[in-house]
Amino acid sequence: MGVEEKLAVLDHIYRVYEGFIAEYETACRKGCARCCTRNVTLTTLEAYALSVRLVDEGRADFFEKLRGAIDLPRFIPRVTTNALAEICIRGEDPPEEASDPDWGACPFLEEGECPVYAVRPYGCRCMVSALRCDDTGFAEMDPFIVTVNNVVLQYLEHVDRDGYSGNLTDLLLFFASADNRRRYRAGSLGPPPEGLIRNRPIRALMVPPRHRQKMLSFIESLQKVPSNLP
Ligand code: SF4
Ligand code: SF4
Repeated sequence: MGVEEKLAVLDHIYRVYEGFIAEYETACRKGCARCCTRNVTLTTLEAYALSVRLVDEGRADFFEKLRGAIDLPRFIPRVTTNALAEICIRGEDPPEEASDPDWGACPFLEEGECPVYAVRPYGCRCMVSALRCDDTGFAEMDPFIVTVNNVVLQYLEHVDRDGYSGNLTDLLLFFASADNRRRYRAGSLGPPPEGLIRNRPIRALMVPPRHRQKMLSFIESLQKVPSNLP
C-alpha cells in the first residue's frame, strides 16, 4: 500500500472512531487540555501527515521549537501495541515504562488549545473522560472504550507496519528531514533510529472475552475501508 492509500485508511479509521465515541457522553470540551501532555505517542503514518501539514503551512519553525526542548523528559515507548499483544499471548510481563503527565504540556498546546486539532493523532482523539480530569485528577473511561482504543491502536500500527512508533516530539523531528519524508513515501525506511521502535502487524487482538461480541460490529466498520482509495 502506498502512502496516499495509507492516509485514506487512516482517515477512514478516524471517522469510524469519531462515530463510535459520539455515542458516549463525555466531559471533553474545547479548552480542556489536562490530557495534552508531552507523552503523546503515534505512528510514522500519523506523524508524516502532521509534518507535511506543518511544512505546507510554512510552520517549519515548529520543528525548531521541538529541537529546543529535546532534553525535556517525555514518554518514549519501548514496545508497540502489537508487540504488547504478543507479550500477553506468551503470558510474559510487559516491560515497565515510565510516564508522568507532570513532565509538561504537549509542545503544540497554545493558550489551552490545539492548533493542529483537525490532524491531531489518534493518541489525542482516544483520550476522553466521562468526568473532567481537572476535577478527578484522572480520565474516567468506560472499559469498552479502553478495549476499542487498544484495538484501534493495533489497526493503526498494522496499516503502518513498515514504519515506526514513538513519541510525538521524536517522530516529528524525524520528519523534519525532507529526506526522511521522501524515504517514508518511497517505503524505504531502514532500521529505526534511537528512540523510535519498529511497528508490527497484528498477530492477535487485545479483546477481553466480555467485549468480544460487542466488538464485532466495530471491527466490521473498521474493515469496511472505502473502495475508492487513491
Ligand atoms: S480527557 Fe480529560 S482533560 Fe482531556 S479533554 Fe477530556 S476531560 Fe478534558
Ligand atoms: S497534538 Fe493537540 S490534541 Fe494532541 S496533545 Fe498536543 S495539543 Fe493536545
